[in-house]
Amino acid sequence: MSGRVIDGAAIAAGLVARLAGEVSADLAAGHAAPGLAVVLVGNDPASRVYVRAKGRRAVEAGFRSIEHVLPEDTAEADLLALVARLNADPEVDGILVQLPLPRHIAAAAVIAAIDPAKDVDGFHPVNVGRLSIGEDALVPCTPMGAMMLLRSVRRDLAGLEAVVIGRSNIVGKPMAQLLIAADCTVTVAHSRSRDLPAICRRADILVAAVGRPEMVRGDWIRPGALVIDVGINRLPGSDGKGRLVGDVHFGEALAVAGAVTPVPGGAGPMTIACLLANTLKAARARRGQRFDPLATDA
Ligand code: NAD
Repeated sequence: MSGRVIDGAAIAAGLVARLAGEVSADLAAGHAAPGLAVVLVGNDPASRVYVRAKGRRAVEAGFRSIEHVLPEDTAEADLLALVARLNADPEVDGILVQLPLPRHIAAAAVIAAIDPAKDVDGFHPVNVGRLSIGEDALVPCTPMGAMMLLRSVRRDLAGLEAVVIGRSNIVGKPMAQLLIAADCTVTVAHSRSRDLPAICRRADILVAAVGRPEMVRGDWIRPGALVIDVGINRLPGSDGKGRLVGDVHFGEALAVAGAVTPVPGGAGPMTIACLLANTLKAARARRGQRFDPLATDA
């Protein structure tokens, strides 16, 4: 048996195109384009690449992109003051402070300072709480994208056994909440779990968000399972640049799974698309209109 490859790049492009259509309709109705403010502190090279990509995709889809690049030695109080200004700015619908922050800044304090209504990363405790009690929330982008990829293969996930490997606030925990909301039976495995392969073999849905290259092998996967590989790991390559692999051994998974996401081109491209979806949701909510990204077909 050979599984199907879930084309995250194509699904993300389709979502961005639909969002661009929604933004055009808003503009035609006399509303401003949704505004996304991205704040980067310091010189982390990966963060610079992400921030640039976010800004570019936002503009391509008709959003307004506002970038604030602050030096590495920015004081926490100055960053909090910028967040307060963005909270109060009517032209800003979504605020994203790129993580990780330099060590002298408490990320939790900065996240807590963002207006929950503009918290397009979905990391504010109010949004985390709303998601966990099943109320409307801004949902973290990577797990939201993973849900859309699952739904692109199978709409009704009710009753399925789902295993999430990883319990981070950014991916693992919100992923588990979304799967619970989709009526799955959810197990969260992590670094202290016993017999991970046996836990994984129970899964109809397996989501790996660990950060360990090709950890999940073919014989961990139940035949026909849906496998979402969130991991992004760079392995050294002969060209000096290296190559990206996920947390799942793709070749082995493809031979067993019903469907599997590749790395790159699977879960990764969905994250920025979902950030834009959240920004549109926040913009619409600010004028009393509802937009539910997870209810739109990905
Ligand atoms: P994290 O380091 O915060 O969390 C990793 C989790 O994996 C932890 O909960 C830990 O308990 C678990 N873990 C570690 N070793 C394990 C082991 N041997 N067995 C089982 N569980 C183990 O990482 P994160 O931020 O959740 O990111 C996870 C991966 O997803 C990384 O590769 C990251 O680069 C990637 N990621 C991708 C996107 C995207 O596609 N846009 C977004 C966020 C994270």
